[in-house]
Amino acid sequence: MTAKLVVGNWKMNGSLASNRKLVKGMLEDRRINRPGVALASPYVYLLQLADLLQLSPMDLGAQDVSQFGRDGAFTGEVSASMLANVGCRYVLIGHSERRQYLAEANEVLSKKMENALAARLAPVLCVGETLAQREAGEHLDVIRHQLDIVADFPSEQVIVAYEPVWAIGTGKVASLAQIAEMHECIKATGLQRQSGSASMRVLYGGSVKADNAEAILSISSVDGALVGGASLDVDSFGMICQAA
Ligand code: PEP
Repeated sequence: MTAKLVVGNWKMNGSLASNRKLVKGMLEDRRINRPGVALASPYVYLLQLADLLQLSPMDLGAQDVSQFGRDGAFTGEVSASMLANVGCRYVLIGHSERRQYLAEANEVLSKKMENALAARLAPVLCVGETLAQREAGEHLDVIRHQLDIVADFPSEQVIVAYEPVWAIGTGKVASLAQIAEMHECIKATGLQRQSGSASMRVLYGGSVKADNAEAILSISSVDGALVGGASLDVDSFGMICQAA
């Protein structure tokens, strides 16, 4: 069985000085400074983190990647091969904040997945329904549609993060039954649609905190956590990593 994975998503937070302090605290914490823990920082800080994590078994991740697969005239874009070049192992794709504010949808996300895999990065495809979609009973269909793009990729190379939009940064957490139902649906959908017999790894994200991490991470279909706000605090993140 693969160990549970914890990915900290720093979102658009940090500075050279605050990152140094935060990572120093993490490196001194044995719950965090171990394999199976990754930090996804803003692009501009990836090199700083690569340097700070040089002697650590922790991994580096990016929060996005370009849809364009080759170097060239794409001003402002950052390619998958550049991310691999600076030491990234993981890349988030289709975070709900990007789906919401930048209208990212399946066509573009599929290209990002393809580019990530071609550069040997592990893509973490984020999926999740809004509260209105859940209240209308559409949540399973919404997620199945967001998963249409995984059909093109081998199951063992794809990681999915189930993040109900209504639980991100709100303090509201999906119930254990809601999480288990959705994770089983995602794994079953992956098995139907993809090549490969292994089921995809599925992380849960959405207000994972020190006090709920153990219960969430003890669900058998939860293969890890994608952590936003709590990954900016050493002790909270340490408790979550310990629970994984
Ligand atoms: C996220 O950014 O992916 C996330 C889950 O955020 P939070 O943990 O703050 O809800």
